[in-house]
Amino acid sequence: MTEPPTGPERVTSDDEPTGELSIQGIAATVRTCTLCALSETRTNAVPGEGSGSPSIMFIGEGPGFNEDQQGRPFVGRAGKLLDELLGVVPLRRSDVYITNVVKCRPPENRDPLPEEVRACWPYLESQISLLRPRVIATLGRHAMNRFLPGARISDVHGRSVRWRDIVIFPLYHPAAALRSTALRQTLEEDMRRIPGAVLESLALNTGTGPERHAPAGTPAKDTDSTTAGEPPREEQAGQKRLF
Ligand code: SF4
Repeated sequence: MTEPPTGPERVTSDDEPTGELSIQGIAATVRTCTLCALSETRTNAVPGEGSGSPSIMFIGEGPGFNEDQQGRPFVGRAGKLLDELLGVVPLRRSDVYITNVVKCRPPENRDPLPEEVRACWPYLESQISLLRPRVIATLGRHAMNRFLPGARISDVHGRSVRWRDIVIFPLYHPAAALRSTALRQTLEEDMRRIPGAVLESLALNTGTGPERHAPAGTPAKDTDSTTAGEPPREEQAGQKRLF
């Protein structure tokens, strides 16, 4: 099972900072967290926001200036573009959950340090466990490499890659798309493929127990495509919506 290269070992109950919290409880804990040095320079922590039962979770690397000011994820120019791109699916912000690997802004938007990622990772783990998204769409190379170490975004963007029992769907960062018309077009095309990734994830989970725990990084397309689009038994019982 793959862990992020600079992330922590899976935490034990002794060092787990989130315990059995709800999503709201995690957000409240994050807002007052002092587990790493980023707490000393932040204005506001940015826990994340969105649906309480999202099929898709968008994960960036860390908050920027505007996010730090407002305490909300992806609210600057890149966030506006993300909203526009969600619209082409079509999705609204309230349909998905948006968060970051680290919840506090690194000074001058530098990359977060390994110890900062390690300290913050349990919050993301808990959010993923509680929200149980079908697809995690990573935004940018850095966020992608937390889940898929060594992957090149130019190779895997817009493709489904298996991670645990979830589909990872790497996307270019909207900020990069702001600087390049070609990249924006690519990002828009990739966004249009997200519904297909959700269907692949549903097919992935039609299998029984061992299938849900196959090695991380297995391309989701390797799963039996004949089941794609058919809701798994648990879906028929719970009728969890696609979006
Ligand atoms: S980045 Fe994460 S671990 Fe560090 S202070 Fe913020 S919430 Fe806590």
